[in-house]
This record gives sequence, C-alpha cells and structure tokens, in this order.
Amino acid sequence: MKLCGVTILVVAMALAFSVKAEEPAGTWQLVESKYFRIYYQDAPDLVRLTYRLTRGKHKESAQRIKKSRTVPPEELKIYDELYEDTMRLLGMRSSERLAIRIYPDYEALAREYERLARKKDPVLAFYNQRNDSICVDASATRSVIGHEMAHALTDKLFMPDPPLEVQELLAGYVQTRI
Ligand SMILES: [Zn+2]
Repeated sequence: MKLCGVTILVVAMALAFSVKAEEPAGTWQLVESKYFRIYYQDAPDLVRLTYRLTRGKHKESAQRIKKSRTVPPEELKIYDELYEDTMRLLGMRSSERLAIRIYPDYEALAREYERLARKKDPVLAFYNQRNDSICVDASATRSVIGHEMAHALTDKLFMPDPPLEVQELLAGYVQTRI
C-alpha cells in the first residue's frame, strides 16, 4: 500500500495488511457529498473543519455553520468545490468517489499513520491508496487537503502510478495554488 503525506516525499509501502488492520481505529459517522464519503468521529470535528474551509469562500455559509454548530448537507459542497479546483488546476477529471477521514486532532492522525505505515513520519495529512481515503485532522487547511486531493486524483487516473517525484510535483503544484 502507499501513503502520501504532505511533508514527505516518498512513502512507499510494500507491506501486506490484514483486513482488520485496514479498519481505522475509532467509531466513525458518515455524511456524503457529490464526490466524497466524509467520515468523522465527533460532530464538532466536522463542524470545525467545514467552517475553516468555508469561511474564506462563503461568508454567510460559514456564519450559519458557526452559529448552529452543525453542518447542513448543502454545506458539504465546500469539499466538492475544493476537488473541482484541484481537477481544474491539474487539467484532469475523475468522477470516482473518494473518502475523507477527519481525525479529531493531529495526535490521532499521526497514530493512525504510524499504525498503517509502521513508522513515524512528520505528516500533516496523508492519502491511503488502499481505501481511497484522504486522511486529515480537523485543523487541516485548504492547501493541505488540496495536496492530498491531488494525490487521490492522480491515483485514480494513472495506471501504473507515475514516479513518486512526479506525484509530489503535481500535489505540490495544487498545494501552493489552491
Ligand atoms: Zn504528497
């Protein structure tokens, strides 16, 4: 399996994982948008991340999310818009659905990375190719998520995968422009 993190250049895994080991720890709840199945463990995590992503783009929506402390289904569009921006930047399109897993905090994300990769790396986020999951914590930024969305997109479109350096160049391109 392969995990692509924001701050690392190369994380290639050739280890076999059991099905059980592939199941992320914790109890997950699910909401769905056009492109994503979005998993979270606690409702405030979904609120926090969605608010952070929305506030720079849709002021009124962000206010509604902040006030109600809930994320109405229509506000999940921010994740789809981010993916549309990623596809536009790379001039590539895919309609395959992906997952986003929102971990409560950086420690939980880092623990999950370590569990899957069986090593420690200073990752801000990572893409788990095995289950098409963009893994972030609730404080992730647009650029961090854009980077991982680029990994997810290229993973879906290229067979076989292009060299890791090329994947990171594309992800870095999105990260700095989104
Ligand atoms: Zn990367």
